[in-house]
Amino acid sequence: MCRVIAVANQKGGVGKTTTCVNLGIGLARAGKKVLLVEADAQGSMAVSLGIAEPDELDVTLVNIMEKVINDEDAEPGEGIIHHGEGIDFIPANIELAGLETALVNVMSRETILRQYLNSVKREYDFVIIDCMPSLGMITINALVAADSVLIPVEAAYLPVKGLQQLIKTIGRVHRKLNPALNIMGILLTKVDRRTNFARDISAQIREVYGNRVHIFENCIPLSVKAAETTAEGKSIYLHDPKGIVAGGYHSLTQEVLADEK
Ligand code: ADP
Ligand code: MG
Repeated sequence: MCRVIAVANQKGGVGKTTTCVNLGIGLARAGKKVLLVEADAQGSMAVSLGIAEPDELDVTLVNIMEKVINDEDAEPGEGIIHHGEGIDFIPANIELAGLETALVNVMSRETILRQYLNSVKREYDFVIIDCMPSLGMITINALVAADSVLIPVEAAYLPVKGLQQLIKTIGRVHRKLNPALNIMGILLTKVDRRTNFARDISAQIREVYGNRVHIFENCIPLSVKAAETTAEGKSIYLHDPKGIVAGGYHSLTQEVLADEK
């Protein structure tokens, strides 16, 4: 059975893309078949996976979603790129912003991505969707297509308002469009182990949300090595295999796998 995970937080820079790439490649290293889907017009996942100019790509998620909208079938494997580190991925670029606007006039606009994923997910153990920093129609499509949501939260300030809004949106999608949707958990990212501040924030998030939302045991430490991977186009496991961020994502991968059992 395939599990579809949306990695979402409408705040930018919290580690969504980094988490998709390194959890996805972590799961592939554990023998799982993984498809990463970039649902973000910024194209940063494509860049993180070695595509220097995503805006120059001919085929992206946009073409695939347009096919669904026009009732056409995608060719098998169309738009799916095989990556050297063992995952498949579908990139996106700036054209996704235009598609989001165009969706307003489309029938069943919330379910376009789900319709597509239903046609390919039997090939995979995990599909991980990298959401854009907004709660617009593309993110709604991701939530409708997903079984669970992983919420990266930067341990730098208490994100009460934004998180409440996100949890509310997830609840709404759950009630109206996707009764199978659940919150997998909050993942604390960019945790600066040298400061008490990050520890205070972690404690506060546990206090405020811990009884409603699962919080992953493992958090992702802050390290410049993680920031470097984006430019390198490879995962943290190749860039800094013995570092704390590789350790963090390896442990998160194990936690996600344990949850499957
Ligand atoms: P989002 O997708 O939520 O916008 P990103 O994954 O792109 O967030 O991360 C935002 C920035 O922070 C990027 O430059 C990335 O390289 C950097 N970053 C991500 N995780 C870490 C980390 N654990 N430590 C330091 N920098 C990080
Ligand atoms: Mg991103």
